Amino acid sequence: MKDFVLRNVSLFGEEVVDAAVCGGQWSAIGKDLGCGYGQEIDAEGKILLPGVIDAHVHFNEPGRTDWEGIETGSRALSAGGGTAFFDMPLNSSPPVFDGAGMRLKRTLCAEKSRVDFGIWGGLTPDSLGGLEEMADEGVIGYKAFMCGSGLEEFGKAGRKVLAHGMKVAARRGLVVGVHAEDESLIGKSGFEDVMGSSLEGMRMWFASRPVEAELAAIRIAMELAGESGVKLHVVHVTHPDGLNLIEEGRRNGVDVSAETCPHYLLLNTGMGARIGAFAKCAPPLRDGISVEGMWGLLKLVETIGSDHSPSPPEMKAGENVFAIWGGIAGCQHGIELVCNEAMRRGIPLKTMAEKWRGGVLRRFGLGGGSLEAGQDADFFLLEKQPGIIKEEDLLYRHRISAYVGWERDWRVLGTWLRGRRVGDETRGRFLRPSG
Ligand SMILES: [Zn+2]
Repeated sequence: MKDFVLRNVSLFGEEVVDAAVCGGQWSAIGKDLGCGYGQEIDAEGKILLPGVIDAHVHFNEPGRTDWEGIETGSRALSAGGGTAFFDMPLNSSPPVFDGAGMRLKRTLCAEKSRVDFGIWGGLTPDSLGGLEEMADEGVIGYKAFMCGSGLEEFGKAGRKVLAHGMKVAARRGLVVGVHAEDESLIGKSGFEDVMGSSLEGMRMWFASRPVEAELAAIRIAMELAGESGVKLHVVHVTHPDGLNLIEEGRRNGVDVSAETCPHYLLLNTGMGARIGAFAKCAPPLRDGISVEGMWGLLKLVETIGSDHSPSPPEMKAGENVFAIWGGIAGCQHGIELVCNEAMRRGIPLKTMAEKWRGGVLRRFGLGGGSLEAGQDADFFLLEKQPGIIKEEDLLYRHRISAYVGWERDWRVLGTWLRGRRVGDETRGRFLRPSG
């Protein structure tokens, strides 16, 4: 591997430094480094940021590779600054429920992923016998749905199942991630029949899954987490009320953290209704005031993950919005657009990077990872190149994205993993919690 030095690069978009890589690690980062660092790269005007660890993707392999797959998923992720991902136990088929499921997915990722990877295990009524095995195999955490997941094979975790899983996770030092929506508060009657207008259909979809459903489930999850002492991670928090509730839990001694996703920071219900099915997800997008509230409470968010949840185009089409597959494909452009939006708002990129890297590493018990000498050179560069995101830019298996047509000033120029530019030939390593 060639050593090199980035000259005059803007660290986090703040001070201008030279950054040298030796043997895949940062060897020196500072002002006016002398010569002798290997290949010289002029990086003037570029912004140096630590690689994204996307703790929430659905690459759907094995079993539903026709929805995405590890190869195209990791390709798209790395084009957006990603150097690692944690893959969810669904919607691969079979879901990851035991040691064998872990080993199978690990083998596939090692073969196909161009970036590092961790693997979530499922916490459902059907996986309880496999929890210990999955921990032995290095699972990054257990994921549970507090409402229907949309797939029969991945059942809802009621109080008993959740409490049991949390007990095991607490003992093994693992995170439990919850999709928090209380099924009893999700609207059912009348909504399913909305046909025809996607605009009206999307509005009904938003209305059918109110914030209260999210809050009620967070309350239950925190109550159970408080009893077990587990590390609870509420994934895809959509609303400032959710963040405030989680903060209240923290103050009461619950070990709880919050994830949000780029789409809850970038898209509101008005935009989502216009975009249509490509912006359908659960929990749903919220109104503009809530989106502003999320930016205002960023300090209460530990991690930002894409919840990249792709599907074939035919599953994103149809007359009835309720019957259309839910999920936003966003691992390629989410962080790039969040960077643009943060710059527009005057929020330091360092603050944001904490949420896509430092916060993830800490929460999931992984070491290292900071942008300093002696650490792995996992990074991406942003360059100023105003333009619009086009369909042909998309590197997913299916060219579906809620962000086509978006303007951005800064784009990801390239991503490096341990000092090597990520491309067809790079392969990632398995990441497992070190405790
Ligand atoms: Zn998800």
